[in-house]
Parts: sequence; structure tokens; C-alpha cells
Amino acid sequence: MITGLLEKNKSVQAVKRAFALNHAAHAFVVQAEQNILADALIYLSSVAVCDNGGCGSCVNCLQAFNGRHPDVFFYPLNGRKTMSVDDIKDILNETQTAPTIGKNKVYIINASTVSAVQNWQGKLLKILEEPPEGNYFFIGVTNTADLFDTVTSRAIRVDIAKLSFSQIKNYLLESGYSPRSAEICALISDGSISSATELVADTTTESIYQSVANALKNMTSTRVSLSFVADMTRYKEKYKLLLSAMEALFAEVVGFYDGITLLKENKDVTIIAQNYSREAALRCIEIVENAYKELASYVNFNMVFDNLILKILEVRYICPK
Ligand SMILES: [Zn+2]
Repeated sequence: MITGLLEKNKSVQAVKRAFALNHAAHAFVVQAEQNILADALIYLSSVAVCDNGGCGSCVNCLQAFNGRHPDVFFYPLNGRKTMSVDDIKDILNETQTAPTIGKNKVYIINASTVSAVQNWQGKLLKILEEPPEGNYFFIGVTNTADLFDTVTSRAIRVDIAKLSFSQIKNYLLESGYSPRSAEICALISDGSISSATELVADTTTESIYQSVANALKNMTSTRVSLSFVADMTRYKEKYKLLLSAMEALFAEVVGFYDGITLLKENKDVTIIAQNYSREAALRCIEIVENAYKELASYVNFNMVFDNLILKILEVRYICPK
């Protein structure tokens, strides 16, 4: 499943082209979220050992997919969590010998748990400065800032960090979730596959979304808003999700005016847009973001939330359609 997702990624496509045309760089820094990083690195290893830049069906590709290609090496060694100088010594030894079955040797370095002692990066740098022919390095991180600038500057960056709404939606659909859930979670996830998978597994996500959508559809005055506020307040333990859903819906309203709505499975946005002008929706996004910041600094939820609703109603009034 993750394969389809990677194949559509632009920087992965660039790596595939480079290997297919035999002019790939020797080192790549692969930035992805933790739960897809290992799969992404395995996929890229197949690209580097395949004679056709990752055809997906040859012996090299299949062995690489299984994590059993004799010319693909995984670090840290022995299932340890963090890289060490010993790992780099092992890499250095491996680079001295020829590949077993293919034409390249590939080193997968999972540096997503960066150790406090980062001496290994300095040692790796020496190898990257003069990489022996036919040796390729994929350094996986969740955040490139964890690496020395001197390392990243010697590598091509492969960014799989943020995905599009439709990529995430399709991923969730392929995983067997309903079109409605897939859309709602893709919308709220804001391009993060790990947040989307968490959202879709959480049964309250849709209830929270619906509570917010109902409120935005029906709150036309302070008086009628009370019951909707009460309904949303039930989820105050999950205020991040509550506010993310609200922000995502306001962003959808802006999209509605620009002719690019993402939600196709329900008509919530069309109805909410009857209450909010484009200008109002933009201002509401800011208001929601501010409430988010206030709540992050442990301010009382009810106070912040009541204030948020008042401001939204006020904006709705002063930025008419
Ligand atoms: Zn292949």
C-alpha cells in the first residue's frame, strides 16, 4: 500500500529517474514520518539495486522489498535504536568489497532516533566525501535538522514528509476505511500520514467532526449557539482534534469560494459557506489558531472556547457575505 503512495511522490520519482539513467548521487537524506520511514527506505533500496531504477518486479526489487537483498545493509546493526561509530566502521568495511549479486551496494541508515553522541555523523562524512563507486547511502530521518549540515549538504534530499489530501484519502481507502471516514481524516490530518492513521483508528474523530460541522452550520446567533457549544465542549479532552476539525472546515469554506473543495462525500461545507464569507472564514482560521496557542499554555478550556465562539460569531457578523 505504501508503495503506491511513494510512487506518486515527486522526490521519489526523481530518485528513480536518476538510478534508471545511471547518474544517481551517492547519498540521500530521506525525510519522512516515523511510521512510513522504514518502508520508504526499503522501497528506495529496491530502486538502487534494480537495474532499471526500481521496476518493482525483478529479483533485485523483490529481494529488496523483503529486506533480504544481500547487497542492502541496514543500520544501526543488531536492531539497536541509535547509530554509533561501530556502525560506520562496518559500513567502511563493506565499501571495500564488491556487491554479491547486483552492481550496487546500498546502506540504509535509520537515523530517526538520533543519539546524543553524534560522532557517527562525523565518521560517515569522511565516507561521503569520497564515496567508493557503486555504493549508495540512504539516511532516514524524521527531521533533517537532526543531521549535521555537513552531512545534509553532501546528500540529495528526498522529502516524503507532507502528503496531499488525495494521497492520504486514497491510502485510507486502500486500507479499507469508508469514503466518508477517509475524507474527514485526510482533511483533518493536514498532510500527515501518521496523524491520519491515528485519526481514522479513533472512533471519536467522526463524532467530533460532526459536532463541529453541526455547530458551524447552525450557529447563527449567540442564543442558538449555546446547545452547539455544549455539544462540542463534550470533547474538551480532545481539544486539539476539535480545533483542527474547525480549522480544516474553515479552510474548506475558503476553498469553496475558490472552487477547490476537498470533501465530496458530504454537503457540510456548502451549508457552512452560507454562514461565512471568504473573508470571515480566513479570519476564523486565525481565531482558531490563536485559541489553539492559548490552550497549549494551559489556559482554562471553557473560557478560551467560549471566547472563541463569540469571536467567530462576531466575525461572521462584521464580514457579511
Ligand atoms: Zn527491479
